[in-house]
Amino acid sequence: MGDLTLPGAGEASGSTDKAPVASFSALPSVDRLLGQPAIAECVAAHGQALVKRAINDELTAQREALRAGGAVAPLPMLVASVERRLGALVAPTLRRVINLTGTVIHTNLGRALLAEEAIEEVARAMRGYAALEYDIEGGGRGDRDDLVDGLLRELTGAQAATVVNNNAAAVLLALAALAAKKEVLVSRGELIEIGGAFRMPDIMRTAGCRLVEVGTTNRTHAHDFESAIGPRTGLIVKAHTSNYAVQGFTASVDDATLAKIAHAHGLPYMVDLGSGALLDLTRFGLPKEPLPQESLAAGADVVTFSGDKLLGGPQAGIVVGTTAAIARIKSHPLKRALRLSKMTLAALEATLRIYRSGHRLDERLPTLALLSRPASDIRAVAERLLAAVQAFAGESFVVHVEPCASQIGSGALPVDRLPSFAVHVASRSRRGGRALEQLARRLRAAPVPVLGRIGDDALWLDCRTLLAQDEATLVAQLAPAQP
Ligand SMILES: *Cc1c(COP(=O)(O)O)cnc(C)c1O
Repeated sequence: MGDLTLPGAGEASGSTDKAPVASFSALPSVDRLLGQPAIAECVAAHGQALVKRAINDELTAQREALRAGGAVAPLPMLVASVERRLGALVAPTLRRVINLTGTVIHTNLGRALLAEEAIEEVARAMRGYAALEYDIEGGGRGDRDDLVDGLLRELTGAQAATVVNNNAAAVLLALAALAAKKEVLVSRGELIEIGGAFRMPDIMRTAGCRLVEVGTTNRTHAHDFESAIGPRTGLIVKAHTSNYAVQGFTASVDDATLAKIAHAHGLPYMVDLGSGALLDLTRFGLPKEPLPQESLAAGADVVTFSGDKLLGGPQAGIVVGTTAAIARIKSHPLKRALRLSKMTLAALEATLRIYRSGHRLDERLPTLALLSRPASDIRAVAERLLAAVQAFAGESFVVHVEPCASQIGSGALPVDRLPSFAVHVASRSRRGGRALEQLARRLRAAPVPVLGRIGDDALWLDCRTLLAQDEATLVAQLAPAQP
């Protein structure tokens, strides 16, 4: 339907003259657009307010185009543009992406993928009332921590447990509850910064503690801690160096020794484990990561770790420890400010139940499934994608399957890499950096953005993190646009 196109409008070939006023009146009215069947369907689905907004935005754009010497677009094109604008208005800002970066627990992409069982429990808890902090038997008020306290005690061997918003909150709360206005001893080799914003010295200050650095960057000994203890000391802390490794001539003090030193002076000993796997990952062919149960068995009074790193659950900070230490932590006013929502608790409980069952963990926990995915399986995915990636990239790129190394991510096990396979895309031209950037941008511009990694003069699409349910979407997006 081209009836609204003004013949001649915009054909002034480079003319900068103002468009004739007549062309403005050739634009359809808002009501005329609302009357188009496709737009009426949009109103039925999304309501009039957003549709009108999309129409007004489109008409404004059309008027601007006319002023610049363009022509009025035909009605079907206007309708299609309004639908596109409405689509953008109603689409979630938190967009689904296809992660081909090879980093499994990617903080910027939401970290762990939840188990289906956990997702179902979240949905169930959200649809109706749930006994979040209600004692069904006694008919009175309960404690929301009780939903996971038993499971955490069973899984870690702790006497008690509590949960908060994330591990940063867990560390902050534990420090404030156990050592406010006191000195806290930490090895100089463990003054960690995680992800740019979690910095041990800053967390200490915020919790009202005075950080006392012990030993040196590469070597800290038991006697360094002993001689640093004074009348104002309130706590000894060990922080897991999640995202770096100190190599060479090094020494650090182990949990058992630090716990013994602390207890000899009547002090609590706390460990910030960071990722904190609940079971020995070497069972799945993965590198060894320290376990909370090991620190507790060695005498730690408090151990904190994340829910959404290697555990593979929702964002949460888990605090396990002795009855006395956990009681102090739970009674601090910050605990109320940092408490978990029912969504998170539902997901965390379901995840912990999977661990307790010990049954088919690497199938039921998607994060563990990706981490332990066999290289042969990943290679087969890369080979299936090869032709589609070549077609998308075009003849100016060489595309082939190449071994690569995936990362666990989120600070977990930084020096350990997982053998993987990628679709490797290199430019044929000698200075192909710009071309690679452009190709990466085209992939990100897809309806479901595709994220790869540029390095060594190539774009790497690591297939470890391609989810089975995303493969068809990816291939469809790589197909050349239909004319
Ligand atoms: C990741 C990490 C944190 C922060 O945990 P969040 O769950 O991101 O709040 C703190 N300490 C260590 C050692 C970590 O690895």
